[in-house]
Amino acid sequence: MRPSGKLHLGNYTGALENWIKRQNEYDSFHFVADWHSLTTNYEAADQVWPDTIDMVIDWLAAGIDPEKSVIFVQSHIKEHAELHLLFSMLVTVPRLERNPTVKEQIKELHLEGKVSYGHLGYPILQSADILMYRAHAVPVGDDQVPHVELTREIARRFNHTYRKVFPVPEALLTKYSRLPGLDGAKMSKSLGNTILLSDTPEDIQKKVRSAITDPAKIRMGDPGHPEICTIFTYHTKFNPIEVPVIERDCRSGTLGCVNCKNNLATKLSTFLEPIREKRKEIENNKNMVEEVIRAGNDKARTEAKITMEQVRESMKIGILGEMS
Ligand code: ADP
Repeated sequence: MRPSGKLHLGNYTGALENWIKRQNEYDSFHFVADWHSLTTNYEAADQVWPDTIDMVIDWLAAGIDPEKSVIFVQSHIKEHAELHLLFSMLVTVPRLERNPTVKEQIKELHLEGKVSYGHLGYPILQSADILMYRAHAVPVGDDQVPHVELTREIARRFNHTYRKVFPVPEALLTKYSRLPGLDGAKMSKSLGNTILLSDTPEDIQKKVRSAITDPAKIRMGDPGHPEICTIFTYHTKFNPIEVPVIERDCRSGTLGCVNCKNNLATKLSTFLEPIREKRKEIENNKNMVEEVIRAGNDKARTEAKITMEQVRESMKIGILGEMS
């Protein structure tokens, strides 16, 4: 994840929740993609470290256990830069220009004709981030699937051209891998349509009230269409027990949007309360957060060194002496 502010519910349902669930099953590596945040925000480099700490606090508060999962910072493991450079020889510019997620960003940020070399190439850096840990599975939201696809291509090309070093990884998607925001578009920091994990009950109430619902349901009594309503989607995720009743009463018109929203806001606040409380506790202990990062960096670096030795040996570049 890029350190670009506090995490939102989309980051949670698409990625973080999956990381937490799977940390017992997999050897997990999670990193703060701080070099990636420069692609769209290179002037604000001095904000990267405070944002890094802020994001790791969200991870820990939500339930990532540093005893089970490795937490580290991308820019602290320089091997990522070397692998990125080597991989960048294996990918054509038209291939990068076809990436739908990059295309969407260019359009959203009005970067047509002025996209930087680093921005266009960041999916290659992401491939290096993934393959550095010889990953088999990548738990991400739906918008990252094109990047995992490129990673698979690079792994195959590398293994075929030199010697087999990398597994070909799969994306691990959740049921809510593209959670809508309050306006119905994909929930995203850059669109200002988010509910944050750290929002207070008052923030949540206010935000939920402003959410767009079924446009055909204007007054209480009007029958609704839950399948196109963002609030209903949130109920399915955060209030599943009441879903059959909500669905029935929304369709029949006996449930109005105001009540339905108030109910959701209460459920969301309850759901987020332990995360909020844990966050407060960790905020008072930032040294512990730095310690977690330092220890994670050490573990990540050990793995990165092993991978890079294999890469250099298989390419026969970057090493001295006899090579087998
Ligand atoms: P943002 O799009 O808000 O800037 P990031 O790009 O930092 O968020 O994404 C971090 C992780 O959260 C990625 O795995 C991404 O796929 C996932 N993610 C982001 N937004 C959503 C969403 N609305 N629904 C599900 N997953 C999401």
